[in-house]
Amino acid sequence: MTGALIGLTVSSPVIALPLAVASHFVLDSIPHYADDERVPINSKIFAIELAVDALLCGLLVLALMARTPDNWFVPSLAALAAASPDFMSIARYLRGIRRGDTSKDSKYTIRQFHTRIQNESPKAWPVEVIWALGCIVLLARAT
Ligand SMILES: [Zn+2]
Repeated sequence: MTGALIGLTVSSPVIALPLAVASHFVLDSIPHYADDERVPINSKIFAIELAVDALLCGLLVLALMARTPDNWFVPSLAALAAASPDFMSIARYLRGIRRGDTSKDSKYTIRQFHTRIQNESPKAWPVEVIWALGCIVLLARAT
């Protein structure tokens, strides 16, 4: 939703898209929910969380199309750009599913950076709820 907000408020996609990607790293450094102990990357619960996230992303795009039919593409693309750093974890996810390897180790500097800046905790879910509610209010105002 943060990426969509950036796409709605920054008129130039050339600026909005890199800003959306950067927002991902900023938000990853703020306390946010994750529970690797109870929800390992190769668990069914994690797969359900991914499916719910994908469904919510689809609903966001549909809402943007419905509320801003002349300006939904760049905000949708910015939302995708904001989520894109987590696509670096696809290989790790597949490794977890296929081999049970849930290690966060990586030989890639960007992936190491992404792992190092995480500020995850099972207790940080209220931050996610407050952030989501704030984004919903701002998206409703911006569309
Ligand atoms: Zn991330």
